[in-house]
Amino acid sequence: MDASDGRFAPSPTGELHLGNLRTALLAWLFARRASARFIVRMEDLDRATSSLAHEQAQLRDLRLIGLDWDGPVVRQSDRFARYRDAIATLDALGLVYRCYCTRREIREAASAPQGVAPGAYRGTCRELGATARSRHEQQGRPPALRLRTENELVSFVDRLHGPCQGPADDVVLCRNDGVPAYNLAVVVDDDEQGVGEVVRGDDLLESTPRQVHLIGLLGLRLPSYVHVPLVVAADGTRLAKRSGAVTLQRLAQLGHTTDAVLALLATSIGIGEAGAGMPLQQLVNAFDELALPRVPWVYSP
Ligand code: GLU
Repeated sequence: MDASDGRFAPSPTGELHLGNLRTALLAWLFARRASARFIVRMEDLDRATSSLAHEQAQLRDLRLIGLDWDGPVVRQSDRFARYRDAIATLDALGLVYRCYCTRREIREAASAPQGVAPGAYRGTCRELGATARSRHEQQGRPPALRLRTENELVSFVDRLHGPCQGPADDVVLCRNDGVPAYNLAVVVDDDEQGVGEVVRGDDLLESTPRQVHLIGLLGLRLPSYVHVPLVVAADGTRLAKRSGAVTLQRLAQLGHTTDAVLALLATSIGIGEAGAGMPLQQLVNAFDELALPRVPWVYSP
C-alpha cells in the first residue's frame, strides 16, 4: 500500500451524475498527482438495486471523461466470504449480536419521547435473553447482525475538514437477508486493496467514525480521508435525475461534448477558466488541493 493509493467506489444502481463524476475525477486527481495507483470498485452488495448494465454504463462514463484505473474492477458481490470472515473475527471478540428489530420498530423507537439521535439504533436487542430470542426465532424473524459498541467517541483527521470526532454505534454488519453491510465491506476492501487515501463525498463523513472504529477492531490499516463537498441542484437539494440534465448521456443529447463537461468539472474544483479545454494530464499538474472549494458546488443545467 502506498499512502496515496486511491479509489472510486460507486454503487451500480443508476447512471453516474455530474456529482459522482466530479467525485471520481477528484479521487483520480488526488491519486495521479501523487503518481499513485487508482482502483475502481463496484459496491454492488445490494443485488436488488445493482445491475451489470449500470456497472457497464458507469465504467463507460468514467472512461469517456478520460479516467483510467489499475487492475481489474472488483465487485463486492464476489467477496461475501471475506466479509463473513471479518464478522467471524468480530464475533470471536464477543462484539456481534443478533438484532430482530424491523425497520419500522427501529424508526418508532427512535422517534419515541426519549428517542436517540435520528437513525441511531436504540439497542433493543443488545441484551436479549434466550426466551425473547427464541420467540423471535419461532416467529420466523431473521436476525441482522450488529456490532456491540459503547458509543465510544472516535477521532480521525480529514484533509479538508481537519480533526473530526463522532460516535461509533451498533452498526449493522450483516442485514437480515444475509447481505453484508456497506460499513463493514468498505473497510475490509480498502485495506485489502491497499487503499491509502479515501476520497469521497462528504455525505459519508458521518459514517466515518463507525468505519474507523471497525478498522481498529479488525486491526486494519487506517487510510487518510478527504471528504469532498457534494454537488447540489439550484434549490440546494442533492443532485438527482430530477435536477435536469445531469448525466453525460443526457448532456450529450443536448449537444454538450464530453470535453465541455470535463472543463466544467475542472472549473468547479478550482482549476479555473484555465482548466477549460485542458487535457486530463494537464489537469493533474494544475490541480491544487488548496484551491478546492469547501462548499457544495451548485449546478443549474
Ligand atoms: N458506494 C458508495 C456510494 O456510491 C461510496 C462508498 C465510499 O466511497 O466509501 O455512495
